Amino acid sequence: MSFKTEAFVLRSRTWHQADRMYDLFTPQEGIINVVLKSAAKAGNKLSGHLLPFSKVRVMIGRGRLDHMAGVETLNDYSNVRLNLRNLFLASSIVELFLAEDRGSQKKTEFKLLDSIFSFLNDESVSPERKLLLVRIFLWKYLSVAGWQPELEECLICQKKVSTGKYMPGRGIICREHTDRGGIQISDELLDFLRHIISADWHQFNNLEINNNLNKEWLKLSSLFYQTVYERPSRVLKLFAYG
Ligand SMILES: [Zn+2]
Repeated sequence: MSFKTEAFVLRSRTWHQADRMYDLFTPQEGIINVVLKSAAKAGNKLSGHLLPFSKVRVMIGRGRLDHMAGVETLNDYSNVRLNLRNLFLASSIVELFLAEDRGSQKKTEFKLLDSIFSFLNDESVSPERKLLLVRIFLWKYLSVAGWQPELEECLICQKKVSTGKYMPGRGIICREHTDRGGIQISDELLDFLRHIISADWHQFNNLEINNNLNKEWLKLSSLFYQTVYERPSRVLKLFAYG
């Protein structure tokens, strides 16, 4: 049996002899591992289309081990591979995707990945802007990956919260619950988080963030990530201030 699908090339490594193994991210199944036979042999027409971060349409032969039967490039995203800064941002994102559980539908994640790679690929977007967009991406991504923080109602009493405390990885509680821990969060940051999670990318075109808000956001983002991921991840570096 064989089938066609769109996919992102996340990573590849050498496999038996001249074969290569690719980790692809697909909207239907998330990560799949696909072997390209004789990838390293001169004249292999498919391997040139399978560069990291590119978006491709592949024909896959299903078997005990999936194998690549055809590839066409949909978007090369070649500028993502152009400099170290872009590469660092893109690899941090890829690291998260590689840690995903397998076999389930990932249509929303696929779209998100497409959006962020197109920003990274866009040379008219400044490096500072790219970093900001990646930080926003991380909140959006975790929200669809099962970690959407509750930011409207108190986790304890379900009252609508306008001013509250933040519980990393979970959401918001009223300030009155003094015995429940949580960290102070400014009203400004609370509004900002609601905005970046729900708004569409084009609404961030003119988004500005002042220094204080940025510092608070990064601190809280680090706590969020440390709660969700047990292993230290390179993503944490994205929240270093500056
Ligand atoms: Zn409450």
